[in-house]
Amino acid sequence: MENREKESMENQEENEEAGPPPGWQPIPPPLPVPSPSEMAQMVCGSCRRLLAYPRGARHVKCSCCQTVNFVLEAHQVGQVKCASCAVLLMYPYGAPSVRCSSCCFVTEIGVCGLSLFLCMCDLANQI
Ligand SMILES: [Zn+2]
Ligand SMILES: [Zn+2]
Repeated sequence: MENREKESMENQEENEEAGPPPGWQPIPPPLPVPSPSEMAQMVCGSCRRLLAYPRGARHVKCSCCQTVNFVLEAHQVGQVKCASCAVLLMYPYGAPSVRCSSCCFVTEIGVCGLSLFLCMCDLANQI
């Protein structure tokens, strides 16, 4: 019994020394995102109109409803109030929803849903 345990331990050590640990694989570099222009797009938080703005702008004023939308950069975090207990929550840019650390309620941020909604709106307008 003791011998078998010792053998298996030795085998494990040999395996680790023989090669890189399992799961170690070279990660292919991400494909460069083509940026044909210096313009970026966001959806107005008020009227959900798609707005184009120069990349780097801090805020975008909607030409439709005059709402000033603050631009979130990829490295920034957003803030949203919990829909259940109104605690102010931080979420990484692009997150579709955020779970409240206080009451565990999941608040939908809806960035993805908004763009989907916008596409459906555009389709409806075209028909
Ligand atoms: Zn608007
Ligand atoms: Zn909450």
